[in-house]
Amino acid sequence: MAAAICLNPSPETRSARLTDSHGRVIHDLRVSITDRCNYKCVYCRTGESVAHAESAIAAGLEAPTHYAELTIEEYLRLIKLFVGLGITKVRLTGGEPLLRRGLVELIQELGSLRTLTGEPLDVALTTNGHLLGRLAAPLKAAGLDRVTVSMDAVDEPTFERITHVPGSFQAVLGGIRAARAAGLTPIKINCVLLRGFNDDQVESFARFARREDVVVRFIEFMPLEEGRLWTPEIVVPLREIVDRIGRVLPLVSLPPLEASETARRYTFADGIGEIGIIAPVSQAFCGACSRVRLTSDGKIRTCLFSQIEHDLYGHMRRGDGDDELREYIFQIVQGKEARHHIGEPGFLKPSRSMIHIGG
Ligand code: SF4
Repeated sequence: MAAAICLNPSPETRSARLTDSHGRVIHDLRVSITDRCNYKCVYCRTGESVAHAESAIAAGLEAPTHYAELTIEEYLRLIKLFVGLGITKVRLTGGEPLLRRGLVELIQELGSLRTLTGEPLDVALTTNGHLLGRLAAPLKAAGLDRVTVSMDAVDEPTFERITHVPGSFQAVLGGIRAARAAGLTPIKINCVLLRGFNDDQVESFARFARREDVVVRFIEFMPLEEGRLWTPEIVVPLREIVDRIGRVLPLVSLPPLEASETARRYTFADGIGEIGIIAPVSQAFCGACSRVRLTSDGKIRTCLFSQIEHDLYGHMRRGDGDDELREYIFQIVQGKEARHHIGEPGFLKPSRSMIHIGG
């Protein structure tokens, strides 16, 4: 285990926490460490890349990547720069991050980092859970705090119709239970709801949350898929989810854990269990956004719906020093978009689809 590392930003950026021109303090970094995935979820990978992946997986080869991947050491250097500018929470995403060799070592290194206030860095991970059964214990031992599992159905046929991977349902259930046994709690489950695909899962997912002691978060479908699936009608809005669950299991609203929390939290009238609803379409939360993203090939995206991205890795490759790179990050974040414009005239889908951005 590496000794605790205290990052020493240069004098001119020491006091300059990452803020944008709208006055929002940015303390949450999401890092995609690969855009490869072992699932082909219908609402995510709707484009031509599915054909490639199928042949690669059938041949036992890893799915071809679309964008480059950095080395683990390069991600670590870039993440340290962000932490030196006030980032307190790092979430590792993908594609599917558990496919990435060196993940355990990366988490071990991140686990030894301290924030500017000397607190341990908060390290989280979002996964489809397929490989969690095998990796939960080593990830916990390496310093991972908690895990979020993407799971879009609680019945096997629907689940496997969505993922296109036979046996995936039992693998994910096993992964969730292994994560609990390893102490990666609280376990959050992210369920993207699409009308006509899995909106029949709402009530059973609420029961699943209570039965499995996991926090199920329903996510309104956003136009981030590869193909052209998204329409306003396919979105199941927060109001409808609350009404439907409330009819079978009365809900009680809970306060947010922090101002930039994306989920609206609810418990049940009997106090057993918790759900959340992330409603970027019907009840956007951009005003309190505290997030920026780093793509698997080292580009900064200041918003999920950015039309442009910024080549931090390119600056590193050309030899910029840490102070120059910090200054670059600082300037880029200043220009962070105020909000998304989903459903508005002239709305443009982002320049990358979700699998190539990371959650
Ligand atoms: S859409 Fe962009 S600004 Fe809004 S919450 Fe998401 S990342 Fe933040």
